[in-house]
Amino acid sequence: MNKIVELESIKQKILTEMNCPLKDAAKNLVFGKGNPDAEILFIGEAPGEKEDEQGIPFVGSAGKELDKLLHSINLTLDEVYIANILKYRPPNNRDPAVDEIYRHTPYLIEQIKIIRPKIICTLGNYSTKFVLASFNIPNMKNIDGIAKIHGKIHHVQIDDMNFIVIPLYHPAAMLYNPILRSTLQQDFLGMQKILEKRE
Ligand code: URA
Repeated sequence: MNKIVELESIKQKILTEMNCPLKDAAKNLVFGKGNPDAEILFIGEAPGEKEDEQGIPFVGSAGKELDKLLHSINLTLDEVYIANILKYRPPNNRDPAVDEIYRHTPYLIEQIKIIRPKIICTLGNYSTKFVLASFNIPNMKNIDGIAKIHGKIHHVQIDDMNFIVIPLYHPAAMLYNPILRSTLQQDFLGMQKILEKRE
């Protein structure tokens, strides 16, 4: 089975079997976008209003910032895949609740196992802690926050998969706090160097 077909079957599983109040309230499932064969996977937090309307991750204001950051290091959607911790929008864009993380992340893990990226760039605290805790939700509390570890390379082994993990601030953070813009730009440039070294 190719990756597109496998991902479609996960999408159908979410549509048919997943239970979550967020799903009942949402307009659309926001599953993922980009190239399933990409070596780089970006993981955000949760869909916002625009994503809920269109069923596509990162199409609102944070998405426009992410597009610019990707463009700044010559990456296109053909070279990355983008998904979220939560597959449905939380009301008023509130933070994900623990029970929602439990309900939604099994599907994210299945996505990751199909895509098998070499590099995971986590955007913000939730995805950073989830991946660095090796997908173990209770252990997320033991992981340092993004302010401390952004831009630093981590190596994570989960089952038979080895990932280079690069924690990054969420692009929405720099919309609220413009000082973070240059931090995020610097971290993307650092990421570009890592990618060049691998070529
Ligand atoms: N923020 C996210 O974390 N994900 C999206 O898809 C949009 C905004």
